[in-house]
Amino acid sequence: MKINVANLQKDEIIGVEFQANNESLGFADGKSEVFLKEPAQVKANVEKIGDSIWVTGTITACMKLRCSRCLDEYEAGGRTDLKLEYRKAQKYFPAEREDLDLKDEDLDFLEYQGGEIDLAEGIRQNILLSLPMKPLCRDDCYGLCSGCGRNLNNEKCICEKQIEK
Ligand SMILES: [Zn+2]
Ligand SMILES: [Zn+2]
Repeated sequence: MKINVANLQKDEIIGVEFQANNESLGFADGKSEVFLKEPAQVKANVEKIGDSIWVTGTITACMKLRCSRCLDEYEAGGRTDLKLEYRKAQKYFPAEREDLDLKDEDLDFLEYQGGEIDLAEGIRQNILLSLPMKPLCRDDCYGLCSGCGRNLNNEKCICEKQIEK
């Protein structure tokens, strides 16, 4: 997912089209809140505007998400807009950077070095940002009973029975 932009001229546009899978996007570790059902399709234009490299296009993905109410997995997906800005990394020592305690997620642009942009991290962030804050398997999901913990979408609450005992 690396694109050479060293010789990219102003106003020149490179069209790219590729697939991104769980491994390349860091969703394969089992801890991720997203898991792609199949590789995501990425279609984008890479363009130099001013000192920045802009990547604009779309990501089409079918994902497995976990419902925030019933904790069941469900499938969601579609097409989301992709918009990334890359700027050449400033020259500083790695130690200084750690002191700043800046993570890539805190910046509204990504940095690149050596005339090459790596789209993986940008696409990963773009997908994560496109997710709902509280994913729901369906709008009227009943969730889990706070007493017995049963999934009320497909099981009956057994709290009353426990009280009778
Ligand atoms: Zn649910
Ligand atoms: Zn219950």
